[in-house]
Amino acid sequence: MFDYLVVGAGFAGSVIAERLARVAGKKVLIVDKRNHIGGNAYDHYDAAGILVHKYGPHIFHTNSKDVFDYLSQFTAWRQYQHRVLGVVDGQFVPIPINLDTVNTLYGLSLTSFQLEEWFASVAEKREVIRTSEDVVVSKVGRELYEKFFRGYTRKQWGLDPSELDASVTARVPTRTNRDDRYFTDTYQAMPLHGYTRMFEKMLDHPNISILLNTDYRDVESFIPYGEMIYTGPVDTFFDNCYGKLPYRSLEFKFETHDTKVFQPTGTVNYPNDYAYTRISEFKYLTGQEHSKTSIVYEYPQAEGDPYYPVPRPENAELYKKYHALADVTAGVHFVGRLATYKYYNMDQVVAQALKVFKRISTGDEVQGAKSKRTLDLNTKLEIAVDTAKTKSSTVRNGRGTSSS
Ligand SMILES: Cc1cc2nc3c(=O)[nH]c(=O)nc-3n(C[C@H](O)[C@H](O)[C@H](O)COP(=O)(O)OP(=O)(O)OC[C@H]3O[C@@H](n4cnc5c(N)ncnc54)[C@H](O)[C@@H]3O)c2cc1C
Repeated sequence: MFDYLVVGAGFAGSVIAERLARVAGKKVLIVDKRNHIGGNAYDHYDAAGILVHKYGPHIFHTNSKDVFDYLSQFTAWRQYQHRVLGVVDGQFVPIPINLDTVNTLYGLSLTSFQLEEWFASVAEKREVIRTSEDVVVSKVGRELYEKFFRGYTRKQWGLDPSELDASVTARVPTRTNRDDRYFTDTYQAMPLHGYTRMFEKMLDHPNISILLNTDYRDVESFIPYGEMIYTGPVDTFFDNCYGKLPYRSLEFKFETHDTKVFQPTGTVNYPNDYAYTRISEFKYLTGQEHSKTSIVYEYPQAEGDPYYPVPRPENAELYKKYHALADVTAGVHFVGRLATYKYYNMDQVVAQALKVFKRISTGDEVQGAKSKRTLDLNTKLEIAVDTAKTKSSTVRNGRGTSSS
């Protein structure tokens, strides 16, 4: 008998499993359909013996001391500041846009103060900032928007920035100084021996069992467990009963080159050329010494593994319906990037998982779950009936499938 069935061995599932086992003394079974732990942060040594990230470059950064201290129990760190260059008009220039970016592109020698004035002179006025296009053109004007953002966003999302929420490009700052670090968080570091080693240490506990290569749907009916922690896509949990939530996917193409260094920095973006968005070279991230080097190209795709929730108002509305359903699904806790349909970085997922664990362990969640079972039964039935009416589909709950 397991106290918890944890679906997914990524950051969300592993952090909760670790806390439940080590702190609360619970028996936990983690099930993942992939053949490894670590979720999208999984890394491994390739045929040449170079440590690579199977699902694209993962750089750890956070402002949360709690998150950093928590993970530090399972890994030593290597200090690392990520730097990104973009190839624009045939030149390598810093991203995010900074003083050197503008001076190099336009052959100028502006000071920080003059750059502020320059941005103000090219920025387009916007009454309301609604879309990703609004965010950028109102800060740096149309020309830089077209050189750096438009093509990249269209490749990455398959949508024009004018069709995407402001939140997408609001993540990328613009600087008037020469700071060329991609992130400015207080803690920026990579697990010294890699992410997978860190996950192995996290999950190394007698109360934790792990079942890989297994979809939880194939085993949940005959595994005795108390409650579920679900970290997969929320729409598939409910059999897409309200329709599929849109995700953007990626195809990764890895190459090993017989040279020590391939490119001038960890990641080079190609906003305007080629089908790929960027190339990352792992040795910059990991600090590994090797006579060869491995790189990865990222090709955005409409279909494939769900990586990025697509931030558009209609998708947020659709998610709200799944969220309401998840809220009244007793005995199941939805945690992580896919289960909450949010573009979270690793540290945010760790923080979310620690918060959910706290709620579970202080009993609030148990109390909540119990009252949910009784008080919200009617709400759940209403939603199920509503769903059946509109989709004539099937609604899953934590203990199996019930047709409605
Ligand atoms: C290309 C890329 C680059 C990124 N770079 C960074 C970065 O530099 N820095 C950063 O902080 N964040 C980065 N992220 C985000 C980071 O990957 C996520 O924040 C983190 O991995 C989310 O963890 P999670 O546990 O929520 O989800 P995941 O890691 O996706 O784990 C979910 C797990 O659930 C499993 N699962 C799903 N359905 C089932 C099922 N039915 N049965 C069994 N198992 C199931 C999946 O196989 C998966 O292993 C990046 C993401 C991508 C895609």
